[in-house]
Amino acid sequence: MPKKTVVVDYQACDPNQCENGICAAALVCERKVLTQEAPYEMPDAKASMCLSCSLCVLECPKGAIHVQ
Ligand code: SF4
Ligand code: SF4
Repeated sequence: MPKKTVVVDYQACDPNQCENGICAAALVCERKVLTQEAPYEMPDAKASMCLSCSLCVLECPKGAIHVQ
């Protein structure tokens, strides 16, 4: 079975819901898997670096982060 990894649901993500437009999910990821080019931008995911810990899933106010 393929390794689980982080996936961003870009239909659900709304950076306006995050404090100062900073992706709350990206903030908690110690591996910096999720990155933002600038505040209020949707995050990119370097999925190959993800440990599938799901910490980021709990932080996103829009439920836009999945580990699957
Ligand atoms: S925490 Fe969720 S809603 Fe906020 S920018 Fe990140 S993915 Fe989007
Ligand atoms: S599941 Fe863990 S390692 Fe992967 S992006 Fe989320 S916080 Fe980072």
